[in-house]
Formats: sequence, structure tokens, C-alpha cells
Amino acid sequence: MKTVAVLGGGPAGASAARQLAASGTRTVLFDEKMAWEKPCGGGVTFKAYQQYPFLLSSGRFRQVTRTCIHTAEAGAARLSLDKPMLIFSRKELNQLLLDRAREAGAELRRERVLAMTKTNPGWRVTCTSQSLDVDAVIVATGARNPLRQAGTAFTGADSMTALGYNVPRAQAHIDIEFFEGFEGYIWVFPRTDHLSVGICGKGESAQRMRARLEQYMDRRNISRDGASFYAHMLPSLAADSWQGNRLSGDGWLAVGDAAGLVDPVTGEGIYYAMRSGELAGLLVASGRFAEYGAFIRSEFGDDLAYASTLARRLFLGRYLFGSNTGRLVQFLRRSSRLQGIVQQLFAGTLPYQELRRQIKESLHLTLSEIGVNVFLRRMVSEGME
Ligand SMILES: Cc1cc2nc3c(=O)[nH]c(=O)nc-3n(C[C@H](O)[C@H](O)[C@H](O)COP(=O)(O)OP(=O)(O)OC[C@H]3O[C@@H](n4cnc5c(N)ncnc54)[C@H](O)[C@@H]3O)c2cc1C
Repeated sequence: MKTVAVLGGGPAGASAARQLAASGTRTVLFDEKMAWEKPCGGGVTFKAYQQYPFLLSSGRFRQVTRTCIHTAEAGAARLSLDKPMLIFSRKELNQLLLDRAREAGAELRRERVLAMTKTNPGWRVTCTSQSLDVDAVIVATGARNPLRQAGTAFTGADSMTALGYNVPRAQAHIDIEFFEGFEGYIWVFPRTDHLSVGICGKGESAQRMRARLEQYMDRRNISRDGASFYAHMLPSLAADSWQGNRLSGDGWLAVGDAAGLVDPVTGEGIYYAMRSGELAGLLVASGRFAEYGAFIRSEFGDDLAYASTLARRLFLGRYLFGSNTGRLVQFLRRSSRLQGIVQQLFAGTLPYQELRRQIKESLHLTLSEIGVNVFLRRMVSEGME
């Protein structure tokens, strides 16, 4: 029987291991920590729990139906989410996914992976206290993948810094704050028993971003007493990095963050980790390694590549003497069409290329919606405006 090693037990690795084991492949998953509180907002979109209904039936989340988007120049726009977002503790989510992998027959080993070395015809996986010869490897070690020969080769432009606090406090809605000239945002996500308050962005030092976040928390009277600090890396591939992205090689496939599969606009990665893990598991089990890259690109990779050009325009572009993010907030307050679009973006149900098509082809708009459409057309057009 074929043996496959899955390196990493986050959403990507656990989903791959479940799929492989369920299709009768001997599957050994290695993770140095197993379920842990990975630095993450924990936001799971409608798209994700619609495709994976066990997330919803687990009940281990906070369901959120209201959000407030804010910039200093434009004030606030409040929006209800017609499709709620589920906010998980990452320890709970990872445990849920690992339990499902184990139940399907995967063997879980708590080990740090030190190296993967080519043998003929497979790979040797070397861990702290054991090694294992396998036929194939699925690399799911996350954004800080230590295995240099497999997975995305991140350049400096391909990631965001992400840091924040888990704060012992409650609120019912999500807050998002944009800043003029900053390629990123602050979020406040309510979880079952605390808030995840964080910032992600590019082009600024971690120290400067932490100061930005702490100023925000002070302004909002969110105390850091009893809060725990976290920091991590968030993949955010630059537009031209998607083309040569290393998704697969001789007897290995990379999934989730290790393959750079994160939405560069919203930072959503949990869905893409689960879906890429599932796809990799399916294809490795049936020996169809070569098809993986094409599946990823056609399902969502090409859309995420387009989104990376959009992200720069959204965060850094300007329109009518104001920032794009400020204009977005202003228009959001009065345009029901824009409200519908942003609701779909929160739900994860509107591919960016479909958004571009809808905006370019929109007809029969009211006078006020024509103004909003001009703004949106500039945003979705190619090239920085
Ligand atoms: C601050 C922050 C906020 C975020 N917020 C959201 C959000 O709200 N919603 C969303 O959808 N996405 C969010 N993301 C993205 C999301 O966290 C990731 O996309 C997702 O966790 C990717 O899953 P993964 O399984 O690929 O990697 P990970 O979840 O990082 O899992 C990798 C696993 O590999 C293990 N591992 C690594 N190296 C080794 C080794 N050498 N040996 C053994 N084990 C190893 C680790 O212990 C870990 O369990 C956020 C990310 C950050 C940093």
C-alpha cells in the first residue's frame, strides 16, 4: 500500500490527511504542536461553511452578523451581513479538523519535521526522533515552511506582517479600520470568550504596525491588561509571483499557506487551506499529481492573482482627492449596490474577476449609483490609478 506523509496539521494538512485516509491510502501526519492557538483572526466565511457544513454543525464558534468599517477621513459605515461569519478559536478549529483526519484513519504523530530528502522513488521524512520513508509528501507547514525545496519560495514582496492581541473582552460586531497610505487594515473579531484584535499589512515595519494597533486600541478603550500578544506571517503574493508559484514537484504537492494560497485583499486563508488540502489528497490518492496546479489555478488561483493587483489599488489608490478606502466607506453608507457587493466579499461568494465583470457591464443604474460605478470601475481596472 502507498504511504503518504502530510507535513503540518493545520487546516490544509488535516484536510489533506482526511481525504487521503478516506480514500484508503496509508497516511501519516506530522505536526510539532498539533491543535494550537495559531495567530489568526479565525474568521470563516459563508463560502467555507457552505462547502464544509460540519464547520457549522460543530457549534464551536461565535456567529457574527454585523460589521463596522471605518477610516479617519470618512468615518464609519455599518453593514449587516446577510450571510453571517463564524469566528473560531484556532485551537478549536484545528482540533475539529485533526479529529476528522484521525477518524478517517490517518495516523497523527506529534513531531517536528527537520527535512525531506529525495530517495528513489519516494522521499525520506526526518523528524526530531524518527524518520519515515514514504511514496509522496504533502507539504502543509504553513507560511513559515522550513523546507526550502518544496512550496512557495516567498520573496519580501509576497507576505504581510500580521500581529495582534487576544483580549479578554466581548463585543457583538466585527470592526475593520483602514488607514490612508497603508497597505493593510486593523480588525476586531469577536470570538466565543475573547476578542482577536490585529493588524496586517505590507511596507511598514512590525514595530510601526504594533504602534499603530496600540494607538487604535487606546483610542477605542480596548485595554491590553490580561491580553496575549501574537505575531505571524500572512502570505500575500505579489501579482507577478503567482505565475511561477511552486505548487508541486517530484512526488510532492504544497497546500495552504505553504503554497501562498491566501486572498491578498481580505487575508482569508482557512478556506483555501482546506480546499487545497482536499484537492491534493484526492489527486495524490489517485496518482494525478500533474493535475494539481491546473486545478488550483482554475478554481481560485487565477482569481487570487488578479486580487493582488486589486489589493494595492484598494489600499493605496486615490479617487477625487481622497483615499480609495475613504471613498469606499462614504459610498458604502449610501449605495445599496455597494453594500450588496461588500456583503458578498465578507461571505466569500463573489470571485474578484466576476466582480470586475459585473462592474464593467453594469447597466440601468440610478444617477447616484453611476457615481459609485465610476469609482468601482477605476478600482477594478488594470494598472495603478
Ligand atoms: C494574524 C493572522 C490572522 C488571520 N486571520 C484569518 C481569518 O480571520 N480568516 C482566514 O480565513 N484566514 C486568516 N488568516 C490566514 C490563516 O491563518 C491561514 O491561511 C491558515 O491557517 C493556513 O492553514 P495551513 O494549514 O496552511 O497553515 P497553518 O495553519 O499555519 O498550519 C501549519 C501547521 O504546520 C505545523 N508545522 C510547521 N512547521 C512544522 C515542522 N517543521 N514540523 C512539524 N510541524 C510543523 C504547525 O505547527 C502548524 O500546525 C490569518 C493569518 C494570520 C497570520
